[in-house]
Amino acid sequence: MAVNVEGKDDINAPDDSPATELPSARLRSIRHVALDLDGTIYKDDVVFEGVNDFLATLRSLGIGYTFLTNNSSRSRHEYVARLRGLGIACDDENVFTSADATIVYMRKQIPDVRRIYLLGTPSLGEQFAEAGYVLCVGAEEPEAVVVGFDTTLDHRRLCQAAYWIAQGKPYVATHPDRICPTGEPTVLVDCGAICAAIAAATGRWPLAVPGKPDRLMLAGILASRGLRSDELAMVGDRLYTDMAMAAASGALGVLVLTGEATAEQAAAMEQPPDLVVDDVVAFGRLLAEIAG
Ligand SMILES: [Mg+2]
Repeated sequence: MAVNVEGKDDINAPDDSPATELPSARLRSIRHVALDLDGTIYKDDVVFEGVNDFLATLRSLGIGYTFLTNNSSRSRHEYVARLRGLGIACDDENVFTSADATIVYMRKQIPDVRRIYLLGTPSLGEQFAEAGYVLCVGAEEPEAVVVGFDTTLDHRRLCQAAYWIAQGKPYVATHPDRICPTGEPTVLVDCGAICAAIAAATGRWPLAVPGKPDRLMLAGILASRGLRSDELAMVGDRLYTDMAMAAASGALGVLVLTGEATAEQAAAMEQPPDLVVDDVVAFGRLLAEIAG
């Protein structure tokens, strides 16, 4: 159901398109908002106007919020510091990375695994260690292999990971992105491209890739926050990742027009977003109006 909402009136306005019906009950049931970052909250490190007022509105309505990122080269603590540095109100519980989603997935699907071989940054290693995993070094035999956005990648460790994968160890990657966008004159080879190298060498792809756009990312938020899917709204600027993930998870998909997708592209989708708003501020206003 698509609706282009700039204010409450649009929701109740009579319209000949059946696609404009977004039951206010659907909005009223929202207890938590998952927020994409780039194109939704900021662009090129410039925070969009009204973002902190939007977050204050959520808090005043008793609605929680979580910032999502696929970037597993930084820990949750580092993201909190980065977001605070940009002036965004945020604590540890407000950030969820693809590494968090991977840990939720592993605890559920391969619960007996304790010893892992990790291709990742030291901070990713700390995060897995904090979660109770033992990081294998050298030729120590792991029970599983985990691949992240390893900006400290070295060939010897890549070969060792490929060896364990070739031996049939369970293998999980944090997120599928092949490159990390940058304004610098370089190509930031990301997790998906590291997995492609491993696939070329071993013929194996990961069992699961829990970062965006996999529904495991939102499943991780639901599980860790104790939410039902109808209590969650996923706000983002991309149709094929943010909105596809919302639809696959049963969360309310809220497209903002501050980033990649346009209203025309949204309307042309076979399964359009549940809601299309100009920006997060408009979404906050809508939630406040619905709450009365
Ligand atoms: Mg985005």
